[in-house]
Amino acid sequence: MLDTVHYRVPPGTAVFLKSYDPADDGNFTGKDDVEDDLKKNTKKLLELQEKLYAQGKHALLIILQAMDAGGKDSTIAHVMNAFNPQGCSVVGFKAPTAEELAHDFLWRIHQKTPRLGMVTIFNRSHYEDVLVVRVHNLVPAAVWQQRYTSINDFERLVADSGVTILKFFLYISKDEQKKRLQDRIDDPTKHWKFNPQDLKERALWDDYMLAYEAALSKCSTTWAPWYVIPANHNWYRNLLVSTIIRQTMEGMGLEWPPAPDGLEKIKIPD
Ligand code: AMP
Ligand code: MG
Repeated sequence: MLDTVHYRVPPGTAVFLKSYDPADDGNFTGKDDVEDDLKKNTKKLLELQEKLYAQGKHALLIILQAMDAGGKDSTIAHVMNAFNPQGCSVVGFKAPTAEELAHDFLWRIHQKTPRLGMVTIFNRSHYEDVLVVRVHNLVPAAVWQQRYTSINDFERLVADSGVTILKFFLYISKDEQKKRLQDRIDDPTKHWKFNPQDLKERALWDDYMLAYEAALSKCSTTWAPWYVIPANHNWYRNLLVSTIIRQTMEGMGLEWPPAPDGLEKIKIPD
C-alpha cells in the first residue's frame, strides 16, 4: 500500500522543504510500474464522483500550487480525465483584476468554491496572496502576515458547509524546473507555454521556498490539509495525487441516494 500519510503536513508543524526529496519515486521503477494502479484509481474516482454528484450532500475542492512548470496543468489533465465533466470544473487564478483588487483577497475565491455535488480544482488559489504577493512585497508585510489566519478561518467556513478540501504543493527541484523551461524553448509544441516572466520568478526561487514553507506550516489544518507531493516524476506525482483523492473520497461517506417512495411499484408502460 502506498503510504500517502507520509506526504501530509501534520497541523502545527514547521515544514522544511530541504527534508523532502522532489525526486522521490516511492521505490517504483517507472511509469509502467504504476500503470495498473493509476488505471484502478481512475475507474474508482469516476464511481466516487458519480455518487458525490447523485447525493448532492458533499463537495470536493482540490487546490494545486507549484512553481512554474511544476506540473499543475498536467496534473489537472490527468485527474480530470477520471471525472465526468458534468460534475467538475477547473478554475485558474491569474493576477487579480482592478475589480478583484478593490475587494478583500478572498472575494474572488469564495465565488468559485464548489456547490454541493461538485468537484472543483483550483489552478493556483488564494495562496498566491501569501506567495507571489509576499515575495514581491505587493502589499505591506502586516497585511500578508494576517492572511494565514484569514485563510484558515475561510477554509474552515467552507469545510463546515460540506466541502472537503485537499491542497497539493507539487514540489519540483530547481534543476527539474530548468529542464522543463528549457524544453519549452526547444519544443515548438511547447513554445506557447514559455513566459519570460518565469525566469524572473525562478531567480527568486529561495524566497519562494520560504514563502511556501510558511504557507505549508501555518495553513495545514485538520479541515484543509496540505500535502507536499514530490513532482519531479510525473507518474509518481499522478499516482500520489489520484490515490490521495481516492482515499479522501472513500472516507467521505458517499452513498447512492435512497429510492424515491413507491419506486418499486412503478411499471414502465409499453
Ligand atoms: P499562469 O498560472 O502561468 O497562467 O500565471 C498566472 C500568474 O498570475 C502567475 O504569475 C501568478 O503568480 C499570478 N497570480 C495569481 N494570483 C495572484 C495574486 N493574487 N496576486 C498576484 N499575482 C497573482
Ligand atoms: Mg506560467
